[in-house]
Amino acid sequence: MKEALLYDKLEKNQVKCRLCRHGCRIRDGKRGICFVRENHGGILYSLVYDKVISANVDPIEKKPLFHVQPGSRSFSIATPGCNFRCSFCQNYTISQMARDVGRIEGEAVAPARLAELAVARKCTSIAYTYTEPTIYYELARDTMAEAKKRGLLNVFVTNGYMTRDMLDDSKGLLDAVNVDLKAFNDHFYKKYCKARRAGVMDTLRYMKQLGIWVEVTTLLIPGLNDNTDEVKAMADFIRRDLGPETPWHVSRFFPNYLETRIPPTDAQALVTARQIGLDAGLSYVYTGNLPWADGEKTVCPGCAHVLIQRSGYTITRNNIKDGRCPKCGHAVEGIGI
Ligand code: SF4
Repeated sequence: MKEALLYDKLEKNQVKCRLCRHGCRIRDGKRGICFVRENHGGILYSLVYDKVISANVDPIEKKPLFHVQPGSRSFSIATPGCNFRCSFCQNYTISQMARDVGRIEGEAVAPARLAELAVARKCTSIAYTYTEPTIYYELARDTMAEAKKRGLLNVFVTNGYMTRDMLDDSKGLLDAVNVDLKAFNDHFYKKYCKARRAGVMDTLRYMKQLGIWVEVTTLLIPGLNDNTDEVKAMADFIRRDLGPETPWHVSRFFPNYLETRIPPTDAQALVTARQIGLDAGLSYVYTGNLPWADGEKTVCPGCAHVLIQRSGYTITRNNIKDGRCPKCGHAVEGIGI
């Protein structure tokens, strides 16, 4: 166990966690909503600092981050736990492990060792992913510091429910994020994620203020968040509040976890959502979990020249020269482009 960061001590050995927007008030001997932070005698502990459950090399396109070092390898780690309880979670066996089966599995791997492994495996970034990195922030923070010493980027794949305090604390360490904007109605967030939409929107805006590179992903779930008015409202929010250069990935849902009765997203719904995003003025809108060349390529917002062609997570052609479109000279936004 490791003493947690970002919490306040209260009367009667209670604590208030300031890591995510749930702001759990936790009595002595109890855990927070994420089930991986526990109060012992008025001190809050992380139960997952020494519980690395996944460590893989992934293409950075798998995060998905299409505008961060395209074609690079990202050392991808996770511990069990999540502060959301999404009924359609694709990684529920590890994200909900503590709550669903009452165990927290994983092994102790020192932050310096994680960074060394990333370098040894020819990765140029570390991705904190698969589950919610906010809830293992103590491990992520120490690993991010070790990564920086070795010249690596740090990227979070997150539900965006961390506090501004956490983001302030990670200044200079966190380079890029892919944030799930799961829907654009609060009912969905409350019913399916046990969270609130406004917190995610505030996080997204604040990340942009801090200069973190932001990409957004939305899993389109038939009948739950794929109404065209809602998709348009989401696209308008991204363009207006985050900027037209913010890549948006609209991704295909497949039945999973507690949502096995909903069919996979129809391919045409993804094509339509992408067009809504482009019509709203977003420069880069991609489709995910769908083999379709048009939805995977990066096109120059200046002259429509094809800049990057992809097949799944593989880059089949990259025409960008010195960070610019070779035809019209438009600077392509991102990191390490
Ligand atoms: S990280 Fe979030 S869910 Fe977990 S204890 Fe802290 S406030 Fe609660």
